[in-house]
Amino acid sequence: MRLHLNLLVLMAVLCGGKAVAQDWYQVNGPSGGPAAVIGSAAAGCLTGGVALPQGGEGYQVLRPSRNRFWGHPDTIRFVRNLAQAAQAGGISPFLVGDMAQPRGGPMAFGHGSHQNGLDVDIWFHLPKNPLRRDEIEAPVPISMVQGTGTNSQTWTADHIRLLELAARAPGVDRIFVNPAIKQSLCRGLPPDKREWLAKLRPWWGHDEHFHVRLACPADSPLCEVQRAVPDGDGCGAEVESWLAKPTLPAPPSKPHRQTRALPAACGTVLE
Ligand SMILES: [Zn+2]
Repeated sequence: MRLHLNLLVLMAVLCGGKAVAQDWYQVNGPSGGPAAVIGSAAAGCLTGGVALPQGGEGYQVLRPSRNRFWGHPDTIRFVRNLAQAAQAGGISPFLVGDMAQPRGGPMAFGHGSHQNGLDVDIWFHLPKNPLRRDEIEAPVPISMVQGTGTNSQTWTADHIRLLELAARAPGVDRIFVNPAIKQSLCRGLPPDKREWLAKLRPWWGHDEHFHVRLACPADSPLCEVQRAVPDGDGCGAEVESWLAKPTLPAPPSKPHRQTRALPAACGTVLE
């Protein structure tokens, strides 16, 4: 009997989590009011969200049909400024992957994060020519990693320059990259040129895109501040501890399930 009860409780939690994600997915547009981030990337939402323009210069928005090209104005500004800086440096236009849903919140499939309008995925693949409409909806990811190092067939100096521009951009809190990418940068740069690597955080996956997370904006008192990145550039023991793990390029292949409750303030954002 007790087992039966536990099962019912578990099912209620699972179904509840799914229903929440579906609700956030089905909202087509942003909430009114001023822009503000509520909660964290893994349990949060967004008011006054802004869409990244589809036809902006220096980038293309991937899979627009997913409606995940929304963010806090700081995030939009970051992407546009990065695109401008990359263009000025002769780097090919980059591809912008998932950002947030119009009001943020949990996603019905894919990420556990990207919920509060401060996260943006940028693909490493830098196509020489703009992608066609059909390619934009079904892009093919290209890994930069081979074994525990970068893949010399795909990884180029432009990737390093793009990452450095992103890491040095104002308002960037951290950038997730595959541990093999971080290690390759650690090895390729002298110690006195590595301080920007502090913001590059090793994480599973992130071998075909990097994931930028902005810091809490000043207009968002309900934004949950993340623990600061550790002191130092993270080269040496920290990145090596990741490289010793068995499944380097791929993240653990469990579907995401929302376990953290959203802040109460997100209730009114959805309505
Ligand atoms: Zn991401």
